Amino acid sequence: YSNEMTLEFESISKNESFARIVVTAFITSLDPTLEELSDIKTAVSEAVTNCIIHGYENTVGKIKLNCGILDNTVYIEVSDRGKGIEDISKAMEPLYTSKPELERSGMGFAFMEAFMDELEVKSKIGEGTTVKMRK
Ligand code: ATP
Ligand code: MG
Repeated sequence: YSNEMTLEFESISKNESFARIVVTAFITSLDPTLEELSDIKTAVSEAVTNCIIHGYENTVGKIKLNCGILDNTVYIEVSDRGKGIEDISKAMEPLYTSKPELERSGMGFAFMEAFMDELEVKSKIGEGTTVKMRK
């Protein structure tokens, strides 16, 4: 990377906007379009929300956010050390949610996939989840 930052914060809902704002500020030097910025903000929000709601199930743990820039590309990694995902391909299907009772729509991964150029999810039960995205 020509520039990189790492941040660790608590899994509480007000940190969704904090994470979005930090990434926005960090990538300003790339002079992104408003559309690119909004896509990246949405993807970061969805990933952080997932750590809070699913990874830690509203208990408090650490979320790590890593953001790298190389040439004109942004690389973002969001990870938790929460419960992990049993079946990643099922979790990534549009409209799949394990928490329909919370009125989740199951569209988080679908948005990340649609708004970013690349999405990779790694997870291990009991160890946590890492989402890597590129745009
Ligand atoms: P929405 O994002 O639309 O509110 P959702 O969060 O259920 O709904 P996705 O973001 O697509 O939908 O995630 C799909 C499923 O993957 C979740 O319901 C959950 O079971 C699982 N999941 C996603 N992120 C994590 C995570 N960090 N830790 C554990 N499970 C996760
Ligand atoms: Mg989600």
